[in-house]
Amino acid sequence: LLPPVTVTVTGAAGQIGYASLFRIANGDMLGKNQPVRLRLLEIPQARQAAEGTAMELADGAFPLLESVDVFDDAAQAFDGTGFGLLIGSKPRQKGMERGDLLEANAGIFSVQGAALNEAAADDVRIVVVGNPANTNALIASSHAPDIPSERFTAMTRLDHNRALAQIAHATGSPVGDVERMTIWGNHSATQVPDLDQVTIAGRPVRDVLSERGLGEEWVRTSFIPTVAQRGAEIIAVRGGSSVASAAHAALDHVHDWVLGTPDGDWTSMAVVSDGSYGVDEGLISSFPVTCRSGEYEINHGVDLSEDARRRLESSVSELREERDTIRAKGLL
Ligand code: NDP
Repeated sequence: LLPPVTVTVTGAAGQIGYASLFRIANGDMLGKNQPVRLRLLEIPQARQAAEGTAMELADGAFPLLESVDVFDDAAQAFDGTGFGLLIGSKPRQKGMERGDLLEANAGIFSVQGAALNEAAADDVRIVVVGNPANTNALIASSHAPDIPSERFTAMTRLDHNRALAQIAHATGSPVGDVERMTIWGNHSATQVPDLDQVTIAGRPVRDVLSERGLGEEWVRTSFIPTVAQRGAEIIAVRGGSSVASAAHAALDHVHDWVLGTPDGDWTSMAVVSDGSYGVDEGLISSFPVTCRSGEYEINHGVDLSEDARRRLESSVSELREERDTIRAKGLL
């Protein structure tokens, strides 16, 4: 067994937190040879519920789970943490403008960024799940000057996984055969699911799609909107938001970051832009990334179609607007 690492989960008593914690304790995120110490962060009103989750975690008798502690103070919750899953955030309430939502979350993520800066382990890795995830990650990063900005990421893996599932379904292929998918931009309705590089068991996806009579029309009117609006569809059908698939995607995100992407394939993560693909340097935007030995790299070799480039530009404008709204309020 490896030496234990500390994992902090925020919004731990929430739905996605509940769906994540037991699987982290089971080794599904960091591997079956990696013991974990869990630290759960909740707001004071939800602290008791998190204590209940901690009791259930104990009752799981997970061999890899060394300890579980519950906090309502960010600095304590992030003490020594190697992995931060920032899931809790303020949901949009009736009548709330987008700017209000950004501001409410800026209050949370600036405090958490500062606490991470103070207390986390030197090699901490952070994934933000709570929406608006990209900008929340940017805010946290800007309040953590001692943590390299590359360590702050946001989750677009659920969009990525949804896109893989749509392609597998449309082509009648096992999902494991679908590779080289990319989600670009913001985790919002402007996201850009891009199948141009996708291969299915090594064959170009367009060849496989055209054998089934599916062409550009299907990509534009079915594939892209289905991926972007899948969350709303789940709510309509299930009567509740996508929780287990979101938790699973968060685990996938960290798993691949630490344990690597398969040879020849990549994944999608929202990470700080180095200015490539026309995304302003410093914004947190989704890119194709390759992970190896605990580090990720933006894949610079992808050809963007004109259409994808145009869509990405509008997603980047949205990210820019979110950043500017927060900046204008003096929160960045
Ligand atoms: P969930 O656990 O269902 O969701 C948590 C966050 O994940 C939300 O921001 C949600 O965004 C986001 N999310 C990202 N991807 C998805 C997806 N595919 N489907 C659904 N949600 C997604 O929320 P709960 O309300 O159950 O739990 C939130 C917890 O956070 C509560 O226990 C609360 O006490 C805590 N909290 C903590 C705060 C803090 O740390 N200071 C502040 C506020 C709340 P979206 O809203 O867009 O659905």
